[in-house]
Amino acid sequence: GREEGMRVADVVPEGVDPSVPSVARIYDHGLGGTDNFPVDRAISARVGEAMPESSKVAVLNRALLRRAVRFLAGEVGIRQFLDLGSGLPARDNTHQVARREAPEARVVYVDDDPMVRAYAGALLAGDARTAIVTADVRDTGAVLGHPDVVRLIDFDEPVGVLMSGILHHFPVSDDPGGIVAAYLAPAAPGSHLLVSHFHRGAPEAEELERKFVAGIGSGWFRTTEEVAAYFGDLEPLDPGVVPASVWRPDPAYDRALFPDITTREPGETEVGAI
Ligand code: SAM
Repeated sequence: GREEGMRVADVVPEGVDPSVPSVARIYDHGLGGTDNFPVDRAISARVGEAMPESSKVAVLNRALLRRAVRFLAGEVGIRQFLDLGSGLPARDNTHQVARREAPEARVVYVDDDPMVRAYAGALLAGDARTAIVTADVRDTGAVLGHPDVVRLIDFDEPVGVLMSGILHHFPVSDDPGGIVAAYLAPAAPGSHLLVSHFHRGAPEAEELERKFVAGIGSGWFRTTEEVAAYFGDLEPLDPGVVPASVWRPDPAYDRALFPDITTREPGETEVGAI
C-alpha cells in the first residue's frame, strides 16, 4: 500500500530480502499497492491461475477490516486496538479509520516483516498514540509484554483484538486457537475479536492451499466451524461467521476507497467475523 508521500519499493529496507516472497508484500500487491517485488507478484499470478477472482480477495478482506474497525470504534466505543499481523501501510489503516470515530483511539500494530517495520515506522513516526511492534504474533508473551503494548493498551478496558488475514498463516501445530486465547485472556469484558480467514468451502480451496503453502510456506484453508472455534466462548455478534463481504455490508463506504470492489462473493474464499 502507499500513503501519499510514501516511497515506492525502489530502495530495499534493511533486513528485507527481495528474492524471498513475503505475505505482507503479496497482500500489498493484491490491494493494488506498489511495495512489492517480482517474486511476490509471481506468487500472486500462480494463485490467480487456480482462481482468477482471488485478486479480489485482498480488497474484500481489507474492506471488512475497515468496516469492522469503524463499527468497533463508532458503535461499540472501543478506544484501543491490537492489530496483529497488521501488514504494510495501505490507504486507510486501523488508526486512521478508528480516529474518524474517536480521535483519542490508540493502536498498536504488530507484524514480523521488516518491510512493514520500515514503512509503518515512517508513517507512524511522531504519533504518540500508535506504535509498530516488530514481533512474531505467535510469541504471545513477547507481544503482550512489549513496552509499547504495555504503554498503549490498558487491558482493564475493552480492547479490539484484530486478527485479520493472519491465523491462516499458522499451522495447526502452532495451535492458532491457543494463540487467540492468549490474547483474549487478559482482555477486559466488552473486548471484541475480529478474525478473517481463508475458508475451506469453495472447490478451489485445496488447490489454492497447495499453491500458497508451496509458494510461501503457509496459507491454510479452514472450515467455518474451525474458524468459529477461535472465538471460544465469546458471544458472537450478528451476523456471526460469514463471508467477508456480507459482514455488515456498506457498499458505498467500501466503494469510496475501493471503486472496483465486487459486491458478489468470489467463491466464498474468506470468512470474517467479530
Ligand atoms: N491485517 C492486515 C489486513 O487484514 O489488511 C494485513 C493482512 S496480511 C494478509 C498478513 C500479515 O501478517 C502480513 O503483513 C504478514 O507479514 C503478517 N504475519 C504473518 N505471520 C506473522 C507472524 N508470525 N507474526 C507477525 N506477523 C505475521
